[in-house]
Amino acid sequence: MSVESLIFEKGTPGRRAATMPSMDVPTESLESLIPASLLRKEPAPLPEVSEIEVVRHYTHLSQRNFGVDTGFYPLGSCTMKYNPKVNEDMAALPGFAHVHPLQPARTVQGAIQLIYELERYLAEISSMARVTLQPSAGAHGELTGLMLIKAYHQHQGQGERNIVLIPDNAHGTNPASSTLADYKVVEIKTDSQTGGINIEGLKAVLEAHGDHVAAIMLTNPNTLGLFDARIAEIGRMIHAVGGQLYYDGANANAVMGITRPGDMGFDVVHFNLHKTCSTPHGGGGPGAGPIGVKEHLVPFLPGPLPAKNAQGYYWEDAGPLSIGKVRANLGNFGVLVRAYTYIRFNGPDGLRHVSESAILNANYLRHELAEDYEIAYPLICQHEFVATARKQKEESGVTATDIAKRLLDFGMYAPTVYFPLIVPEAMMIEPTETETRESLDQFVSVMHQIAEEARTNPELVKTAPHTTVVGRLDQALAARKPNLRWQIGQEITH
Ligand SMILES: *Cc1c(COP(=O)(O)O)cnc(C)c1O
Repeated sequence: MSVESLIFEKGTPGRRAATMPSMDVPTESLESLIPASLLRKEPAPLPEVSEIEVVRHYTHLSQRNFGVDTGFYPLGSCTMKYNPKVNEDMAALPGFAHVHPLQPARTVQGAIQLIYELERYLAEISSMARVTLQPSAGAHGELTGLMLIKAYHQHQGQGERNIVLIPDNAHGTNPASSTLADYKVVEIKTDSQTGGINIEGLKAVLEAHGDHVAAIMLTNPNTLGLFDARIAEIGRMIHAVGGQLYYDGANANAVMGITRPGDMGFDVVHFNLHKTCSTPHGGGGPGAGPIGVKEHLVPFLPGPLPAKNAQGYYWEDAGPLSIGKVRANLGNFGVLVRAYTYIRFNGPDGLRHVSESAILNANYLRHELAEDYEIAYPLICQHEFVATARKQKEESGVTATDIAKRLLDFGMYAPTVYFPLIVPEAMMIEPTETETRESLDQFVSVMHQIAEEARTNPELVKTAPHTTVVGRLDQALAARKPNLRWQIGQEITH
């Protein structure tokens, strides 16, 4: 029997998975509270199903999905490391899971203590004075950080600073956040030898626009997986013209316990706790993007911030210069509990070991893959590196997309492809520290086999994947007109 013949609309009117207590609020009073125009005229057309139907439905969907619990996930820049189950246990503790965001501080002392301590750990890891845990993700942190920088410049009487400098290998959220914060973006070129910032190019831009530069946004190591050894010099150049240094912390997995953005000269840092501190972040969320700042920016932070006195922990309201709240209350608290657990579980030496192992794993793969694939910058890398399909494309027309799709047939996720934009046929590979030597070797042998196939049977690679539930989607159509729900009578297409 085919899968298709087993698909049918689930549910029957009246079937139930749970019995709800009857409502103790009079319906009339509800109707007087909600404007008539917002009330439903007819019940929502929801399937009415029993518990086993619900469980089977979602378990089936989960089996069609791919996750780090299923297989190797080398999606560069996303740090898809294993999420330890102890994090989940802690986040599920009723004292954490059931707190209400507006509960009086004396009834949620443990939750505020966790925020208070996590702030201090992150400040120590990044060498910043204070950290707000409010932003919901890296991109939200970027916007928050740029708003802080803008408030600072305005307070200094330098409101005319309207430019943010961003390297040509930056993540797309950097220019997007800058635009959202009403800044103009000026691109800085990458040095083709070192993979770092082209210093001469930066000098020229600063000479032309120095008075209008609000900030530079950098990640170090950058998206090529390379550490910019001239970062201190770059920092001095930006500060000399009155600009601020913003650190995109998405690549923090390479530097924990080894170096700190604050020591490199950065003024503002965002963390992607869902990446670096192992909280599940497939499918777009939830996340947490705390923002750390040096002392001169502290007055502008969103509030309230956690504080402590003889009576215990409390929320301290923000001062008059604060940019205001960027998210309600405790931030994405469940993610923060997981990150806190991860940091406490590893400890300072453990975090350094995490970064060192991530770097070692990436360099191992870079070395082993170099025989089959051209490496964009054949230098010692940090936690990730960029391989390319340039050779394969020239020889047999097999592209980075084809290789990415073929990997799925082997039960492995694909690297990040076609990013950074400055590398043609890019395949950005980040193994993370949580992979074993065996799984790395398996990836190497699969990549070797795909390179072999590209030579001997390119059609096999070009038509991959062959074993997944869906094949190649029309990606533009899928993004613009997502079809998220199968409806009865609709044809199943692959
Ligand atoms: C993931 C990432 C971001 C954006 O972070 P989100 O948490 O996804 O919003 C920014 N910069 C880099 C380099 C990233 O990898």
